[in-house]
Amino acid sequence: MLELNDPVWSRLTTAYGDGEEAVRLLRRLVTAAEDAELRQELFELLLHQDTVYTATLAAMPYLAAMAERAEDIETLADLYITCGWMESGREHGTDRLDIASSGEFRRERQPKLPDETVASIAEGYRVGLERLSRLHERAVGLELKGTELSSDAEEDENPEAVYLLAAQAAYAGEIQVARLLFNFPEGDEYSGACPSCQADWYVWPKEGEAGGLIVYTDDPVTAQKEKRDSTTVQAKSATALRAELQKLAQEAGRLGACRLAAAVPSLDGHAVCPECRAEVSVWEALAD
Ligand SMILES: [Zn+2]
Repeated sequence: MLELNDPVWSRLTTAYGDGEEAVRLLRRLVTAAEDAELRQELFELLLHQDTVYTATLAAMPYLAAMAERAEDIETLADLYITCGWMESGREHGTDRLDIASSGEFRRERQPKLPDETVASIAEGYRVGLERLSRLHERAVGLELKGTELSSDAEEDENPEAVYLLAAQAAYAGEIQVARLLFNFPEGDEYSGACPSCQADWYVWPKEGEAGGLIVYTDDPVTAQKEKRDSTTVQAKSATALRAELQKLAQEAGRLGACRLAAAVPSLDGHAVCPECRAEVSVWEALAD
């Protein structure tokens, strides 16, 4: 990994400039990881609208070490979730674990780095991710204590639990699951596009039916109620779900993300597109 005193940090990029500011914050955080404001300051440089940067990749092993050492669970969960979000935003190539081929190294604003520097950042990142992935049980500790509080799928979702599930999916390389959950943590409106005709899809919970989903092609917020076309999603049977969604449904139930747990069979279901009438996969429609 890249040492904190390596001059190369100034040649790395963040959302707002070079890596100097990021490494300055990182040095302070090493002994003050529980300072939420300071963490936030660093995260804003490293993760911006689902995009990460070379300084993000170089920072990962330090963030992982902070998460491992964190004594309070909020700090641990924050680091676990945010680093998972970073991984879900990374421009990985065909081999996700070949970090050196990540798109962040080839951006226009990024000066070309020596191969050995890229290799060292890549190795630090890979190891950092692996270490973070092992912290799941500790990170979900708080949620497990709270699961008795809500078990009603029609109630508001527990977004903290959904973020933890999103991060877990990112560490497992299930990037579509991770992105979907990071983008729609409340589960009250998913958006995508019909795989057949590319019409916009607005996928909403069906009132009065736990886990049921409805597809609209006009935004239900603005479209007139009597004019809008909709179809109901045909859920897949719980035993036929694709592996990553089967795992997600179980873990969502365990963490008390009840709306999500109930909706997974519909997320993997089929629906007739209200626009072109083709019967298509909802999971495919929600892929970005
Ligand atoms: Zn369509």
